[in-house]
Amino acid sequence: MRTSSDARTLLANPDLQIYPGHGMTCVFDPRRAACRLSRDDTDTRRTPDLADCRPNCVNIARTDRDIDELTTDIETLRVLVDDPLAPPIRVARERQQLLRLEDAVTQHTRREGNDHDL
Ligand code: SF4
Repeated sequence: MRTSSDARTLLANPDLQIYPGHGMTCVFDPRRAACRLSRDDTDTRRTPDLADCRPNCVNIARTDRDIDELTTDIETLRVLVDDPLAPPIRVARERQQLLRLEDAVTQHTRREGNDHDL
């Protein structure tokens, strides 16, 4: 996981394979990928499976855009979790997702703060 500054540097590197996803950017290194790898249309190159993206993968970077998307998702989830009429099973699942996204944003913000301290 990397800071926005790291992500901007990586995105500007033409030698890297970059795959933008929802709330994350995959800076693809197939040797370190935590997801299933698939083949592209020509079947000559391995590509990441963004639908199977794992939160602990070291290939994840987050840009400012990604953090904005996560923040919007968090706001939506907070409303759903606070709905007193929602089924408990759904609320439990959404609460877990909310905690995971909040943790991702907190970690990102902490790293950004450390980055600026340097
Ligand atoms: S798990 Fe996510 S970040 Fe890691 S290689 Fe796969 S798509 Fe990219």
